Amino acid sequence: MSSLFSLFSSPKQRSAQNEEDEDSDSSQNESQEMKGEVHSHLEESIRPYIDLIDTLRSIGIHKDLSLPTVVVIGDQSSGKSSVLEALSGIALPRGSGIVTRCPLELRLKKVTGGVKWKAVLSYRKKRIELVDSSIFASPLNVSGQLRSGKVAHSVYDEKKFEFEDPSEVEERVKAAQNELAGKGVGIRNELITLEIMSPDVCDLTLIDLPGIARVPVKGQPQDIGDQKEETINMVVVPCNTDITTTEALKMAQEVDPEGKRTIAILTKPDLIDKGTEKNILAVVHNKVIPLRKGYIMVKCRGQQQINDEIPLEEAEQMEKDFFQNHDYYRGLLTENRATIKGLAVRLTHILVDHIKKSLPQLDDNVKKMLWDAKNELNECEEGPPQDPKGAKQFLIMILKKFNDRINSLSTGDLIIKENLFVRLREIFKKWNDHLVDTKPSFKNMKEFCQNNRGRELLGFSNYRVFEIVLQSQVATLKKPAFDLLNIIKEIILEQFRDVSNQSFQNYPVLLDITTKKIINIQASQHAKAQERISEQFEMENMIYTQDPIYLKMLNEISHETFSEDQLPIFDTKTKYSEMLQAYYDIVVQRMADQLPMMITLFMLKQTAQFLSTDMLSLLDWANVSELLFDNSDNAKKRKDLQVRLKRLTAAQEALSDFI
Ligand code: GDP
Ligand code: MG
Repeated sequence: MSSLFSLFSSPKQRSAQNEEDEDSDSSQNESQEMKGEVHSHLEESIRPYIDLIDTLRSIGIHKDLSLPTVVVIGDQSSGKSSVLEALSGIALPRGSGIVTRCPLELRLKKVTGGVKWKAVLSYRKKRIELVDSSIFASPLNVSGQLRSGKVAHSVYDEKKFEFEDPSEVEERVKAAQNELAGKGVGIRNELITLEIMSPDVCDLTLIDLPGIARVPVKGQPQDIGDQKEETINMVVVPCNTDITTTEALKMAQEVDPEGKRTIAILTKPDLIDKGTEKNILAVVHNKVIPLRKGYIMVKCRGQQQINDEIPLEEAEQMEKDFFQNHDYYRGLLTENRATIKGLAVRLTHILVDHIKKSLPQLDDNVKKMLWDAKNELNECEEGPPQDPKGAKQFLIMILKKFNDRINSLSTGDLIIKENLFVRLREIFKKWNDHLVDTKPSFKNMKEFCQNNRGRELLGFSNYRVFEIVLQSQVATLKKPAFDLLNIIKEIILEQFRDVSNQSFQNYPVLLDITTKKIINIQASQHAKAQERISEQFEMENMIYTQDPIYLKMLNEISHETFSEDQLPIFDTKTKYSEMLQAYYDIVVQRMADQLPMMITLFMLKQTAQFLSTDMLSLLDWANVSELLFDNSDNAKKRKDLQVRLKRLTAAQEALSDFI
């Protein structure tokens, strides 16, 4: 903030005008107004500036830079609440210790034309909402099979209360504070705005800040020094204390050494020590501790008057009487250095002057921040647009990209981390190796046949025995075949997951849904493949091949060239092993190709196809922004910047009418 600080004391600012001249200018206006000759043009010249600052604050621009404000500083029981009360005509939460626990913005608006008193209390309450990502389950979801994920994001509830009974203020402010800061003494930064529309108030906006507006009490942070150049300090000092040593005045002096932004309010003139009147008068006349904005003396309701429930209007009359009848302070009335009403008018003028002076710099700062925010946003990684149409288009784009990737993966055109097809070939080769390595020699068939000889006469062979031998041999391949399927399934799952992570890394909801879809589709494809492999083994159980194929293999194995009609010579027990070997080789060849093709088709090709189709069903999802919910750091930054940009643009628009 030091940059702002220095910007505000730039030569342009300092040479703007002679402040004392200006102050005496406005004193003339004040005296006219105090005499009841309220010039409508004056109202017209003041109100827009106050409204502008109120507008800027509603936009939220005070989060980016500080706005001209009046803050109240003073010791305990110096009369802060009494002054605020008299200015606003309403009872605020009062008590000892920390009463103001959230910044309270008090917007006083003068209304004319027989409008009754009316107040609007408003604030924003942050709430964390959990989105259940399992609600996005795909049609293929096997319910209960998958874990459900929750993702958190914050939403704001706008609270607004309108009421017409001034006596409700205290309770309503307290309730709002409790809601925002919790019961107890916690302090929060959320702003509570209380707008009072009444014929009896001045156009003025005051901010009561916890820990800043008041002299810190035990446990409150001592952050009075954090005040910005834009703050007007309203220091409340009771007359019946040693004004020169007042802590609050010292603090104001620390943050505003030249006293340019400090106005002092002297309270409790009725409780003054007899004999000190002249000393006090010297203070009010700015002769003791000079302040550019000067002093003003007010008399509020004493404790007794509060106990007696003297209404504020009556107190106003009593204040006037008090000054008129006072030997020493009578003159202050004409000098515009006394009464609550005089304070209100003076404060308004100070604030408006201050606003006017701050505007060019404020405008410059807003423009600069707008520029910075735009640049920063450009540097931010791209994300979904905030409008529903744009968000939908963005969704279409990332889904398409994902599908393209999945399809390229299935055709081997996309390589992530490792080449899928290289990996598959490796595994399939192992399968082939296994088939070859486990090939039996069938050498002991002679013995086997003797051991299994049935009712046939000697010399006759039993075909059934050979069938059994081959069938049991093929059956040993069943488990390795299913193992192969499972291994491939895992490899493909991993690669599909990689593609999902790559495509939806910033969108946990979308990623979760996609993962579930992959798992579901894979599960059903796995079941299909399992069935298909089982069928394959059932077929192998039949022992079959085409004669020419068999003959070719038999010749290869025996290194001879027999024709079909020469074959019966094989039907001797010595040749059985070669016949079995030849057939089993055919089985091995069949299985070596068939299974990889089957598994690739079911687990890769079809899975990719079904997944792409299923992903498109997400386009029918009603709440796109929920689907695109993004909680990455980049997204948070982008979201913040987008909000800020909106805010700054609105601020610049509001300011442009004044510059
Ligand atoms: P705060 O702690 O600074 O907010 O002070 P309060 O406004 O609560 O005032 C403290 C006490 O001083 C209350 O009893 C008020 O009635 C009393 N008080 C405030 N202003 C005056 C005044 O001008 N004259 C007298 N006699 N009492 C006052
Ligand atoms: Mg108080």
